[in-house]
Amino acid sequence: MRRPMVAGNWKMHGTRASVAELIKGLSNLALPSGIEVVVFPPSLYINQVIEGVEGKRIAVGAQDSAIESAQGALTGEIAPSQLVDAGCEFVLIGHSERRQLLGESDEVLNRKFAAAQATGLQPILCIGETLAEREAGKTLEVVGRQLRSITEAFGVAAFANAVIAYEPVWAIGTGLTATPQQAQDVHKAIREQLAAENSEIAQGVRLLYGGSVKAANAAELFGMPDIDGGLIGGASLNADEFGAICRAAGN
Ligand code: PEP
Repeated sequence: MRRPMVAGNWKMHGTRASVAELIKGLSNLALPSGIEVVVFPPSLYINQVIEGVEGKRIAVGAQDSAIESAQGALTGEIAPSQLVDAGCEFVLIGHSERRQLLGESDEVLNRKFAAAQATGLQPILCIGETLAEREAGKTLEVVGRQLRSITEAFGVAAFANAVIAYEPVWAIGTGLTATPQQAQDVHKAIREQLAAENSEIAQGVRLLYGGSVKAANAAELFGMPDIDGGLIGGASLNADEFGAICRAAGN
């Protein structure tokens, strides 16, 4: 039985004051039991959030981490070991904004993925196709290649301790959501690709959907058999909306 997960990616949003407000809102939520909730604040506010949600069944993760697991001479980066030291449990790897706007390649992301796992951080690997790729009928090819980049480098066993987020790039922050069936079709293909190598790992790995999820569409998406929760961007900045999405995952 896979435990549903709702993950909130705050991206580059927030000030100390607005983060304090959001922590207050999240702390007041009655979260359903049986689901895992994680938030990903900007790194600058990770400590504030970890202290603020203490005892609230909300885990904290980072939106990115360095290619090396240990601290060292790498200006501007944060080592996975430092994130663990701060109390983080998860890290996003390969969000499309980093792949597309910052040019992060599969090779770089493989290093980040491995460095994170080496410290005990659980990576959430983000994969997904652009609109042009979908329109060209290449969705499964693109997602399959992004997934294979990890399995070829580290073996399918890498997903015994990782989460996958399928996020069609055309649905992120656009208000356009994949239909539950479109999302399910890709999630099923991801699981089948992993199952071809190891069915136990394929059945155990959590596959999140991300792309304009909100309270109004969450239940339908999370009701699909291969969708185990969501990676939520914009709607995670509103505690009440995020709480409603968490309740949808708990039903
Ligand atoms: C995201 O940033 O991962 C995301 C899914 O954003 P949004 O929910 O705003 O589309």
